[in-house]
Amino acid sequence: MTLTIPFDNSYARLPGAFYARQSPEPVRAPRLVAFNDDLAQVLGISPGDAQDMAEVFAGNTLPDGAEPLAQLYSGHQFGNYNPQLGDGRAVLLGEVVGTDGIRRDIQLKGSGRTPFSRQGDGRAWLGPVLREYVVSEAMHALGIPTTRALAAVETGEVVLREGPMPGAVLTRVAQSHLRVGTFQVFAARGQIADLRRLTDYAIERHYPDAVGPMGLLCAVRDAQAALIAQWMAVGFIHGVMNTDNCAISGETIDYGPCAFMDSYHPNTVYSSIDRMGRYAYSNQPEIAVWNLAQLATALIQQIEDKQAAVEEATEIVHAMPDLMQQHWLRRFRAKIGLTTEEDDDLALISDLLTRMAQNQADFTNTFRALGSDAARDQFTDPAAFDSWAEGWRARLTREGDPEAVMRAANPAFIPRNHRVEQMIQAAVQGDYAPFHRLNAVLARPYDDQPDAADLRRPPTQDEVVHATFCGT
Ligand code: AMP
Ligand code: MG
Repeated sequence: MTLTIPFDNSYARLPGAFYARQSPEPVRAPRLVAFNDDLAQVLGISPGDAQDMAEVFAGNTLPDGAEPLAQLYSGHQFGNYNPQLGDGRAVLLGEVVGTDGIRRDIQLKGSGRTPFSRQGDGRAWLGPVLREYVVSEAMHALGIPTTRALAAVETGEVVLREGPMPGAVLTRVAQSHLRVGTFQVFAARGQIADLRRLTDYAIERHYPDAVGPMGLLCAVRDAQAALIAQWMAVGFIHGVMNTDNCAISGETIDYGPCAFMDSYHPNTVYSSIDRMGRYAYSNQPEIAVWNLAQLATALIQQIEDKQAAVEEATEIVHAMPDLMQQHWLRRFRAKIGLTTEEDDDLALISDLLTRMAQNQADFTNTFRALGSDAARDQFTDPAAFDSWAEGWRARLTREGDPEAVMRAANPAFIPRNHRVEQMIQAAVQGDYAPFHRLNAVLARPYDDQPDAADLRRPPTQDEVVHATFCGT
């Protein structure tokens, strides 16, 4: 049986200025280590035999209909504009329209050098590939918009990072790889016709009801506002919210140094390159607004009446914090079991979070335990929880079935950093059992799964992961 991918490409029809045609560079000895059957089904991809799939998802064989290319984009990295980024270690093979009618990109990441590689080798090592596989699929299972993982392949080659590491390629699936930075590159270069073309393309592909550049801006704002609130509600820290990692589709993209918090603190940062804490947990809403402002600045370049456009865009961007706050409040209300709205709810939620931060309470386990009696055990001083819970229980008397609401809003399982690290260590030694187990458990994050209690446990002192790396 040979693998077939029903390609239906649109990006390759766009002007040549948008990309560089680029085939993946073949690797020595590809071996398929993961394939996502459920996702393949949605995509209408019929799997082939393992070796066949290894060749395709390593980039050694181009499947029929593929038109590989590396996309051009730029972006602000940690607030500084970098005029040319682009796919330096990825190629878009093409697109498929799934059984759900949604068009998606099939991209190989770690597939070799491209014209945008700069100093990089165009490769990825196994650690970040498995990390992105596990975490992006976990995000999907949590109900959070995200790129997905279709396959992972070991290349049989060595990649040099801190030391020699096993090379790997991830097959990433996204509703598109359009980023804020894709708009920025044409705006910055004054390529207005290309900017207009891109705007039309993005509207048609993602937001067919949106009208014009400002309509697109509104749609992206709404999608990003909803997304960031969802990150906040599960304790997710993206880690590199550069404008090139901010997807127009509103999907979470680029799982580099991302992490889920264990014990709650608003200032938590894991990324080793984020020394100023720019992308700390609690800064994420503000950064999302900043990124949207960069999109607005780029989009405006195509509008004749600049003054009117600036006014309209300013209004759109300025509405984002409130929108995000509304999403945030709805999600955190649900996390403490509330479906009705009362004025004091925000204060009640904030008070809990403050006490959690003061008591090193585990974010995930505290919320999950709210329905039972175990929540107080998460606090170094359980009395700090008890005095909060008094007011909370009084509030719950005006609710219907708070326990069901909380169970649906508070996952039992998140991809904890230390488990992800342990999984990578094992895979490097050739043991993929932890990888498969993590995937299986994280596919049902809201189910108790008593056999997997060890995956709910916060790290011990020795297990704590203090810093995460891009792995580039
Ligand atoms: P990221 O930090 O993953 O968002 O990547 C930022 C930029 O660096 C993008 O243009 C990537 O394509 C590029 N890049 C990252 N790693 C590599 C690599 N190993 N080789 C070439 N380019 C890379
Ligand atoms: Mg990136």
